[in-house]
Amino acid sequence: MEQIIRLEQIKKNYYLGKDPVPVLKGIELSILKNEYVALMGPSGSGKSTLMNILGCLDSPTSGRYTLNGKDVSRMADDELAKVRNAEIGFVFQQFNLMPRLTAWENVAMPLIYAGISKNERNDRAHDMLKQVGLEERSHHKPNELSGGQCQRVAIARALINKPSIILADEPTGNLDSKTSIEIMDLFSSIQAAGNTVILVTHEEDIAEHAKRIVRIKDGLVEKDEMN
Ligand code: ADP
Ligand code: MG
Repeated sequence: MEQIIRLEQIKKNYYLGKDPVPVLKGIELSILKNEYVALMGPSGSGKSTLMNILGCLDSPTSGRYTLNGKDVSRMADDELAKVRNAEIGFVFQQFNLMPRLTAWENVAMPLIYAGISKNERNDRAHDMLKQVGLEERSHHKPNELSGGQCQRVAIARALINKPSIILADEPTGNLDSKTSIEIMDLFSSIQAAGNTVILVTHEEDIAEHAKRIVRIKDGLVEKDEMN
């Protein structure tokens, strides 16, 4: 299988005034197309920092990130944004939905930026909500939906541009355990449909749903095992 992600000696510093605070200290990680990977690690170990780099939301301080054969580690922001829009779907713990928009409008939103016609936006958003099992809720706003339903909307929105990689940072962190399992099953079906799925969780039983578990500690890969 083809490597979709390759990280070589990825380091990331934040700055406290002028003092660099190293958070990622030389991450080495390769992920194959269509893998289903859970990233685990203690709070503050750098998981979100790593996810933001993987998702082209941020760049490493040093090291090389090759995404689909392209070195994206030194790209300018506008170039990086293009790669992100083409390749990445991001899902967050807090859902990050637009509160005034309906489920349908939230899902269709990325297509407006992609310059897609209204009819096609309608059709694609409808199909996507159907795929995540929320057809009947398409005209509801986030505050009229349960947490699990909101996360389904967010996942549909992440998928709407047909990205190759879905990144989810603690997607079940705000959900009860039954709903969490339903969301993990949804990620399994997304992976089965051909996507590469990488998610962060700190719950062992949630991570068990993934096929591979990568453990981060003190800014390094501590363990990397198949499930
Ligand atoms: P995790 O997701 O594993 O909990 P994070 O990647 O969010 O860890 O954070 C790793 C460390 O970097 C923490 O000590 C955090 O306080 C620090 N950190 C995260 N983001 C920033 C930022 N934008 N500026 C400064 N420090 C940050
Ligand atoms: Mg985090």
